[in-house]
Amino acid sequence: MKSLEEYLRENFSKGIIDHAIRANIDSKDIVSFYIHPAGHNGDTLDYIVKRDNIARLNYSNAIITVECEQCGKQYEVVPGAHIPICHEKYMHEKAVI
Ligand SMILES: [Zn+2]
Repeated sequence: MKSLEEYLRENFSKGIIDHAIRANIDSKDIVSFYIHPAGHNGDTLDYIVKRDNIARLNYSNAIITVECEQCGKQYEVVPGAHIPICHEKYMHEKAVI
């Protein structure tokens, strides 16, 4: 799968430096966007956003639900993002959607 860097490099080599992104916030309050060359044909890459982290949106790279063993509180995090701490312990992964 093409990385964001490969996408940007490939388009740059074709003289394409402007890109359009379209943002979305779904019913689970997940912020996502896709990027596409502005005014040109090309690849479309989808990402989910958590704070300043972006992660490629595809079937093997989805939101991780983490849970506190002590109080049961749950958060959804992007893979690679900081795992929240609850009751002075890192929350553990509950399930991968
Ligand atoms: Zn807790």
